[in-house]
Amino acid sequence: MKYDVIVIGSGPGGYVAAIRAAQLGLTVASIDKRKELGGTCLNVGCIPSKALLHATELYWKMEHQAQEFGLKATSCTYSLEKIMERKQKIVTSFNEGIRALFKKNKITFFQGSAKLLSPTKVQVAGEVIEGENIILATGSEPTPLPFLPFDEKQILSSTGALSLDHVPKKLLVIGAGVIGVELGSVYSRLGSQVEFVEFLDRICPTLDTSLSSEFEKILTKQGMRFRLSTKVLSAEITPDQITLRTSSEQLTGDTTLIAVGRRPFTQNLGLEAVGITLTPQGAVPIDHRFRTVVPTIYAIGDIVDGPMLAHKASEEGVAVAEIIAGQNPVLNYLAIPNVIYTSPEVAAVGLTEEEAKKLNLTIKTGLFPFKVNSRAKCTGEEEGFVKIIADSTTDTILGIHILGAHASELIAAASLAIQNKLTTLQLAHTPHAHPTLSEALKEAALALHQRAIHR
Ligand SMILES: Cc1cc2nc3c(=O)[nH]c(=O)nc-3n(C[C@H](O)[C@H](O)[C@H](O)COP(=O)(O)OP(=O)(O)OC[C@H]3O[C@@H](n4cnc5c(N)ncnc54)[C@H](O)[C@@H]3O)c2cc1C
Repeated sequence: MKYDVIVIGSGPGGYVAAIRAAQLGLTVASIDKRKELGGTCLNVGCIPSKALLHATELYWKMEHQAQEFGLKATSCTYSLEKIMERKQKIVTSFNEGIRALFKKNKITFFQGSAKLLSPTKVQVAGEVIEGENIILATGSEPTPLPFLPFDEKQILSSTGALSLDHVPKKLLVIGAGVIGVELGSVYSRLGSQVEFVEFLDRICPTLDTSLSSEFEKILTKQGMRFRLSTKVLSAEITPDQITLRTSSEQLTGDTTLIAVGRRPFTQNLGLEAVGITLTPQGAVPIDHRFRTVVPTIYAIGDIVDGPMLAHKASEEGVAVAEIIAGQNPVLNYLAIPNVIYTSPEVAAVGLTEEEAKKLNLTIKTGLFPFKVNSRAKCTGEEEGFVKIIADSTTDTILGIHILGAHASELIAAASLAIQNKLTTLQLAHTPHAHPTLSEALKEAALALHQRAIHR
């Protein structure tokens, strides 16, 4: 059978592209080398990490905050095994959910490693299948350090860190980016001593500078240690100890997590056979309609340029399916939010102050701290603030940055504002429920006009 579309990779880019293409009446085959659908995000990324973050945050709050609320928990303990079991149950239920969606949408799934044979032919599990169009969505993999190969016991990638059977005594995290601080938080809350080594001079460097410095202070207060502007040069490993030699000193621990970034995964995909050459960063080059140099082959998600985010991959999945079906979707990359699911959370959308200045835009900024927000007071989540960056001539919102509890949920309104090019006055004049954390957004918008009510 010849399919209208073959999608290689069933992560949030690939499976969403497959479903959208099927909704549009196209015949679709999906291929993944994993038996479970959902890709990195569902199996070893977004979902398992958030399950661990939530469980450990509850534990941490019982240990450190219960008393403040007048609650008495005489002995609060945990079972790592049970925490991991719950995580896996969540993952499995969504694996089954996507399989059911495939069935509902009449998508044929092939399990196996796919290899391109020609612009329309793919080899998988000993078969050759043919497609009018092919979408590559093979995602990314953790970047290793040449002198520290992953063994997933002592030297962990994020994948190993999501399935440990014990809590490390001292965890050395190389790289204080999003994945590093999320997984570092998980084990810090369970009692590990967590120390970060970061090559750059600040943590989570894509954040607006004001957020990343405040964020570092908060995580330090929680017990994590950060060595910034420090490069790991080499390592010595014995069965129960790891020694990292860095540009400043030697650090020892029993386990290390390497979280220095991810790289596009295109191994054995057969790109050479069809004439696709990768960029120097290892990404598949595409035009503004996700088309590679081969007119029948498209690429989306982590294997192409742009932020490596599940929802970015999914938006591209929808867009590419619609393009193949003859539509003209528009994807506004500026409205794609970025979230860090620590406690407190961090979420941002649009330009940072530094990016806006680099573009020579004349800007104004408005700030509102959660410590004077009434809901934050009630829930004991007073850390952080909302910062809004706007064009000083047109008042259009350019960026919204939130450091604070539930920032991942609050950012949706900010994305809506950026997507629709709203002004800060439009946000300020929108009624917000009281008492809610979202009032801090309204107040930050009012602050831009020297009209904040509660400050
Ligand atoms: C620990 C961690 C936490 C994360 N948390 C978040 C988060 O909270 N929010 C967020 O937005 N992003 C998060 N991410 C990033 C997110 O997981 C990725 O951006 C997203 O999964 C990319 O989707 P994708 O569809 O491009 O590729 P992937 O999800 O990587 O899926 C690619 C699929 O292709 C398959 N494949 C590869 N090669 C072949 C082949 N030749 N043949 C057949 N199949 C193949 C793979 O098996 C895989 O299933 C996290 C990542 C990690 C590691």
